[in-house]
Amino acid sequence: MEKDFKNLKIQENIINALKLQGIKVPTSIQGKTIEHILENKDLVGESETGSGKTLAYLLPIFQKIDIDKKENQVIILTPTHELAVQVHKVIDKLSKDSKMNITSTTIIGNVNIKRQTEKLKEKQHIIIGSGGRILELIKKRKISAHTVKTIVLDECDKLLDENNSQVTKAVIKTTLRDRQLLCFSATVTEEVLKFADESMKESVIVKEDKVPMANKNIEHMCFLCDKRDKTLMVRKLVAALKPKKAIVFINNSNDVEVITDKLKYHGLKAASISGGDFKSSRKKSMDEFINGKSNILVSSDLTARGIDIRGITHIINIDLPENEMDYLHRSGRCGRGKNKGVSVSVITEIEKPLITKLENKFKISIPLKELYFGNIVNDEEKKQMKTYNKVSKKGKKDKQENYKENKKQHNSSEYWKNKKNK
Ligand code: AMP
Repeated sequence: MEKDFKNLKIQENIINALKLQGIKVPTSIQGKTIEHILENKDLVGESETGSGKTLAYLLPIFQKIDIDKKENQVIILTPTHELAVQVHKVIDKLSKDSKMNITSTTIIGNVNIKRQTEKLKEKQHIIIGSGGRILELIKKRKISAHTVKTIVLDECDKLLDENNSQVTKAVIKTTLRDRQLLCFSATVTEEVLKFADESMKESVIVKEDKVPMANKNIEHMCFLCDKRDKTLMVRKLVAALKPKKAIVFINNSNDVEVITDKLKYHGLKAASISGGDFKSSRKKSMDEFINGKSNILVSSDLTARGIDIRGITHIINIDLPENEMDYLHRSGRCGRGKNKGVSVSVITEIEKPLITKLENKFKISIPLKELYFGNIVNDEEKKQMKTYNKVSKKGKKDKQENYKENKKQHNSSEYWKNKKNK
């Protein structure tokens, strides 16, 4: 039997709220996880990018929150401020549309802690944000960890990597032992499974395959050039691909602004974002990109995770990511839901073997393409176009010859003599 939200035991007002957003049928990951989460099971869920993981955990969480109790009941940890804001917006909309009056707030580092403390006095049901600041506020007793019933690690492999795992585990430790723990990502790593084994009781693991699945709605391709020509290649690619919206990923945050300026100089509507920017500047760039003031966002890996922006048609990697898993996350910013997307990598000769590694690891094809008179072609297509151009050039030449010959005849006295005699 195909699952619908009703037989997943989602209540009527939430189903109606989803309908307002055009969401009628659960995605595969939602079908496999919602009931377990409603039953208070700990869970690890892996599914491809853009497949609806946020609602997979939010729908059952909404249903489990005791609205009458004004206390912190859920913590959602995210690796970036931008993702926290996005999840907050989804909660806000669902709360309004379902008329459930579920409250939430974002708590992120490097911004005024006093204002956050003020907001926390209202005891929101859901707290979303970065581990460091949340931990700080738990220690200051501004967030009450003992009332928390569910913790979500959104992008769990990132939150449990060597830079973040200490603080993530410290937040989890502040809550009671019987709280529910939920981990979601498109790339569930061995570390996550090990962590689940150590920290979860009777956990449910929803993972399709040994290797993470690539989103099938995304087409991959790569282009070869010298390192110094990469920005030029990006410009040519933008001209050829005409993306509605594209994110250009760069490994080194320090290069983000330089490359953005170069693209802008050549008339492209580009904005930049990286971890080193002020929060206000990051927000400005995101807003400009979302509302269409710019259609190219040059970014570090800051936006590689979880970001769901309508209308991103292309991803362009100026550099291949250092971590292979990040290739899937970067690509996954396009092809969201049922939409199609194209992930393009600009590579140098020495990066070719890395492409083969990605192809083998994720069982995808990343063919080498070329730009030929502004067209994107593979080797075979280029040969065909060359032959066609030769033929049509010859055709043009023949036509010119015929024309000259006809004109000559037309002007000759012989021609007029024949015409008169007819
Ligand atoms: P996520 O992977 O959670 O970022 O979701 C990707 C996109 O899919 C978002 O824009 C969601 O609104 C959308 N989405 C989530 N669940 C469904 C569903 N069941 N049917 C159609 N779209 C969905």
